[in-house]
Amino acid sequence: MGTTRRMLAAAAALLLLAGAATPAGAQPPDRVLYEVRGTDSAQRDTIARSGADVLGVRDGTVTVVASPAQARELRAGGLPLSEIGDVDALLAERGAGKRTAGDFPAGDEGYHTYAELSEELSAAAREHPGITRLSSVGTSAQGRALHLLKISDNAGTDEAEPEVLFTCNQHAREHLTTEMCLHIVQRFTEGYGSDPAVTNFVDTREILVIPSVNPDGAEYDIAGGEYRGWRKNRQGAGTDLNRNWDYRWGCCGGSSGNPASDTYRGPSPFSAPETRAVAGFVDSRVVDGTQQITAHIDFHTYSELVLWPFGYTHDDTAEGMTAEEAQRFAEVGRKMAASNGYTPQQSSDLYVTDGTVNDWMWGKHKILSFTFEMYPRGAGGLDGFYPPDEQIAPQTARNDEAVDILLAEAGA
Ligand SMILES: [Zn+2]
Repeated sequence: MGTTRRMLAAAAALLLLAGAATPAGAQPPDRVLYEVRGTDSAQRDTIARSGADVLGVRDGTVTVVASPAQARELRAGGLPLSEIGDVDALLAERGAGKRTAGDFPAGDEGYHTYAELSEELSAAAREHPGITRLSSVGTSAQGRALHLLKISDNAGTDEAEPEVLFTCNQHAREHLTTEMCLHIVQRFTEGYGSDPAVTNFVDTREILVIPSVNPDGAEYDIAGGEYRGWRKNRQGAGTDLNRNWDYRWGCCGGSSGNPASDTYRGPSPFSAPETRAVAGFVDSRVVDGTQQITAHIDFHTYSELVLWPFGYTHDDTAEGMTAEEAQRFAEVGRKMAASNGYTPQQSSDLYVTDGTVNDWMWGKHKILSFTFEMYPRGAGGLDGFYPPDEQIAPQTARNDEAVDILLAEAGA
């Protein structure tokens, strides 16, 4: 076959693969939003294993974005996918109104771009020099600084106090989480000296905040003046940072090996500069053989959940997780969830994931590490990632007590 005939044959094969149901002349949508009702955790594992992008889960109802191929595979496996709509059309619909490329759209200006976030952190450091130290753990794939703000009395000195880490925005489109970390920064700097609980924690802990682990992805998500629904980093086709951590990486069907998938784990553990930088920082906190960081929350949206490891297995206990340790996770997780109204559960009760930050933090460093899935509770579709900015203040303050519970536990 000549080159042209080979290309034609390939194009015909692609058309067949794309499905005969597409009307002549219409392009099939790349990404479709679906709902699947009444799932159990085995069915949710199947959905996640297909490489489809699970957005949220509530009472067994899964909201998921799938490609045509993934949707066909899941339906063939007996899962009743009901179509909500074409993702790009839904995003464009939500994008109606005035837009400025590179900024949040009208009505969402309360969210911080990377430049605005950087300025807020500089201002916090400038205005509270005695209790802050601003640095970075490294740079993103595109060269943005991964900011780290330490908040503690005598912040310039490494004191013998429990260290607690808060990380946000591993997933690009989860902009509310960046606001959560910024809220923690503002609460513990501005409240120092006037709020007794805040003052006590700043005096007796070293609070470490990384407000955006994925600044490239977050900027890309808003760069076109319209939300893109982007999840991964911006290295090549993008890596799902929360599948790229080096603990049981890619072990268990909880991530995808396909670079086009939204849950692509990357070519190797810590192939993403962002995860490698945060992990390098955490590794560097082992002083005289003891990890100084004792507790951690990684913030995500959405579903209103408090999750704990392990994610790679449905078993409650495993190598590196005794019954007693699992019990402590459950106790602290339930206590925090009681304070904010979230639902507490082991991560894998949702569906199996591998290469996540919680599994690595606990598996490698024995850090009491949780994931919070923030507002809204569920079935939010794509809007779940883009709540109006009026929600920033109530939804971040909603976690104040949970953050305090973790800070207290960090010393236990
Ligand atoms: Zn997330």
